[in-house]
Amino acid sequence: STSRTFHSLRPPIHLPPEETPFSAAEYALSLHANHSPWPDSIAIINSSTSQKLSYSEFITRIKSLTSYLKNVTKLCKNDTAFILCPNSIEVPILYFSLLSLGVVISPANPMSSESEISHQISLSSPVIAFAVSKTCHKLPKLKHRAILIDSPEFDSILTMSPAAAATAQQGLEKVTVSQSDSAAIMYSSGTTGRVKGVVLTHRNLMAVIAGYYPSKQERNSPTVMLYTVPYFHVFGFFYSFKSVALSETVVVMGRFDLKNMLRAVEKFRVTHLAVAPPVVVAMTKSDLTDGYDLRSLETVGCGGAPLGKDVMKVFADRFPTVDLWQGYGLTESTGVLSRSNDPEESRHWGSVGRLTAACEARIVDADTGDALPPGKQGELWVRGPTIMKGYVGDPEATSTSLDPDGWLRTGDLCYIDDEGFVFVVDRLKELIKYKGYQVAPAELEQLLQSHPEIADAAVIPYPDEEAGQVPMAFVVKQSESRINERGVMDFVAKQVAPFKKVRRVEFVSAIPKSPAGKILRKELRKMLPIPLPSS
Ligand code: AMP
Repeated sequence: STSRTFHSLRPPIHLPPEETPFSAAEYALSLHANHSPWPDSIAIINSSTSQKLSYSEFITRIKSLTSYLKNVTKLCKNDTAFILCPNSIEVPILYFSLLSLGVVISPANPMSSESEISHQISLSSPVIAFAVSKTCHKLPKLKHRAILIDSPEFDSILTMSPAAAATAQQGLEKVTVSQSDSAAIMYSSGTTGRVKGVVLTHRNLMAVIAGYYPSKQERNSPTVMLYTVPYFHVFGFFYSFKSVALSETVVVMGRFDLKNMLRAVEKFRVTHLAVAPPVVVAMTKSDLTDGYDLRSLETVGCGGAPLGKDVMKVFADRFPTVDLWQGYGLTESTGVLSRSNDPEESRHWGSVGRLTAACEARIVDADTGDALPPGKQGELWVRGPTIMKGYVGDPEATSTSLDPDGWLRTGDLCYIDDEGFVFVVDRLKELIKYKGYQVAPAELEQLLQSHPEIADAAVIPYPDEEAGQVPMAFVVKQSESRINERGVMDFVAKQVAPFKKVRRVEFVSAIPKSPAGKILRKELRKMLPIPLPSS
């Protein structure tokens, strides 16, 4: 059934031979150095302070930090660094420095609770943490102290004079990083169960970057790219490398706020936005957009969760000169599997674009295991150079997700049309996506089941216009328990990051289960007093 394999229609990518030592940081910087049409354009802008760094200043800071981390902090290749930081211009500098030393980056959501962090740390076993003053109290004691990247000390490390940085760099023995070495451990629950650590290699990241390179458009001035997507999520993570490779100017926002985003678009003449669906929804609904000059905007790229076809149409009416497109991917695939590449492609409403370079896909029938032809729905399986190495320390979960031939099961119900456009129809896996953030039902279920007055519980996604989905709990009370909806919600809220809160509760007499004890989530949907709108 190889004829039923869909191949990417993009031009092939050109990566260095696998045996050549290369870190993803070195790779992105070399593409920038060799091909940038603008010798020293702006690399990065802090949207709230307007602080700007040119590419040469940005690279000098990377060198200063790299020598500090090697000589003073004594970080070694294959050490893991845990990162608990909101977006700032320091984060990509840190990413580049760590990867060039062969240190594995493990970024987590800074809103995570202490128990979530200790679970993540137990998976990635970091020797050091990087945090900010607001998040560091949540960290347990590690082998090395935590480094605060919003401190004056950190700033003085970064701003060592260029001469001093060059000298420090000379004293550095070069670290040899292989492309097959781990570059990152990112957190995802995959298709089922609790949060796991996704291992991505330098080669994975290089392949993603190569898929964007060289960018097709010939421009007279740099792309000015504003990210509202977080650097700790795979979307922001690989974008931080891709932007350097493509010599983009990046505008960084600490915390998303529509007004501040619009103001930044006007002020810095932003040409491209990288966002999750709630930002697009907000732009179609708010009158705030009328108050700003948004004429510089050329493209809005949206990913991380589904964007409704209707929202896309409203957006196109409201911003007729802006090209809105969707990208689709998973943490397990280094972020991107399909996207639109030009205005023509993005007019395929509802599609998540075409397969990225070097990516192969199959649409697999759940019952027969057959690979299906164009137009037919089934689970999307993907293979290619961006697919993860596996889940750290979890061979069982790895072999459930990755088959021996290298196919990754996405857990998404999709079809691919005759022209190669991918459509995501539904999610087969247990994952809930609140504003693009992952919420694992299993994690909330375990928490609820630990409550003395709760006999059993199950959690499913409930559709929500603003957030996409919210977690909804079905709860079976212990006999004589007087726990109410509020009690259930507060119990969970105290122990998890805010985006994981249970926002709806339904009390039931039993949770429907298969003979093997598996929760029958479809049956749960049917138990709702009002039928769920189809997704
Ligand atoms: P994450 O690992 O957090 O990026 O989550 C990956 C999952 O998010 C995918 O398997 C999809 O279920 C969902 N997802 C991401 N992008 C899209 C999209 N454009 N449309 C529909 N679902 C998406």
